[in-house]
Amino acid sequence: MTSASFWDDGLLEADVVVIGAGIIGLSAALELRARNRGLRVLVLERDVVPAGATSRNAGFACFGSLGEIVHDIDLMGSAAALDVIASRVEGLQRLRSRCVDAHIAYEQHGGYELFLAAHPALDRLDEVNTLLAPLFQGAPVFARCDEHIAPFRFGGAVQAMVRTPYEGTLNSGLMVQRLLALARGADVDVRFGAAVTSIDEGRDVVHVHVASAVGTRVVRAGVVMVAVNGFMRDLMPHSDVVPGRGQIIVTEPIEGLPFRGSFHFDDGFWYFRNIGNRILFGGGRHLDRERETTTELDVTEPLQTHLEHHVRTIIAPWATVRVARRWGGIMGFTLDKQPRVERRGNIVTAFGCNGMGVAIGSTIAARAAQLCG
Ligand SMILES: Cc1cc2nc3c(=O)[nH]c(=O)nc-3n(C[C@H](O)[C@H](O)[C@H](O)COP(=O)(O)OP(=O)(O)OC[C@H]3O[C@@H](n4cnc5c(N)ncnc54)[C@H](O)[C@@H]3O)c2cc1C
Repeated sequence: MTSASFWDDGLLEADVVVIGAGIIGLSAALELRARNRGLRVLVLERDVVPAGATSRNAGFACFGSLGEIVHDIDLMGSAAALDVIASRVEGLQRLRSRCVDAHIAYEQHGGYELFLAAHPALDRLDEVNTLLAPLFQGAPVFARCDEHIAPFRFGGAVQAMVRTPYEGTLNSGLMVQRLLALARGADVDVRFGAAVTSIDEGRDVVHVHVASAVGTRVVRAGVVMVAVNGFMRDLMPHSDVVPGRGQIIVTEPIEGLPFRGSFHFDDGFWYFRNIGNRILFGGGRHLDRERETTTELDVTEPLQTHLEHHVRTIIAPWATVRVARRWGGIMGFTLDKQPRVERRGNIVTAFGCNGMGVAIGSTIAARAAQLCG
């Protein structure tokens, strides 16, 4: 442990310490400062950039495809499924009004789901539209659009397609930059390279132990918010988070790429979009659940081979495809697909975006900030 100097005290204490500078941590810090201008809020992030999911995702501003929603209705019942979808829709509104669309390259070209075989969700389109109508002023949310398959030049495996006009895409890097700029503007202290190793709760103070270049530092906090997503168990061993890796590829630009918007298939396990005439394509963790239930950020050869194969056979069979970038990111799942926002003593935990944090992250952050008060 490194002894703190007399002068360090003010730098090593805060009213609220937020651990993790992903969308939840940064948005919660902003909420806290908006609620109380006098609150000293310190965000600790272990890497030089946020390194979990927020800056490693696909940038879909989505609330669930038809297939995913049908799956969720069967898992949790219609009322609970609607509640989660409402939290995603609310989160997107919060994010967009906080960040402003132009600053995060938000575009609403709609979302599409591809069906490669007969699927029960296709017969439940009316049921889902009726369920979601109150969230979208009564307008139909999903509609068949098989007529787009040929102009989008997808492979012959695509048999049906469903569209929603309400889905958008954004630039996740710009989103992180914007949240950081807003945090700086709101006098939130964000420290990078500050990996928290443990948290000890005392009577009126929580001690946050941070690994630093000179040894362990101890930060004193009134309340600690743990927002480390798939890494929750490193700090809260009893957390019921299930980490899941998502792998992504981005191709070199492809001339004449005919589609834009956001696209999903296999109940959301695969997803792709056009970004600057490149295909960003990710997913497939359901093919190797054991290996992909991990907190390791690397990519693996078998899944990368699947990704490339699907681009060449399903998404753009007519194109010459060269992969420019590959990366992995870590999501945090809960078995019931519900978010977790809880306070025990002076420790608040906030996680469980279940792969849709661009949408639900801001809602979770607002709820978590409320619990800090
Ligand atoms: C490949 C991929 C694609 C995705 N695509 C989409 C999408 O298109 N749309 C969508 O809505 N969602 C998507 N998601 C999910 C979305 O990105 C997440 O749900 C969301 O970013 C989670 O935000 P968070 O703040 O909870 O966690 P994170 O963004 O993971 O932030 C947690 C932070 O905590 C930090 N941390 C961890 N441990 C410590 C520690 N001990 N000390 C200090 N800091 C620590 C991490 O470095 C990280 O920066 C995707 C995720 C992945 C991985």
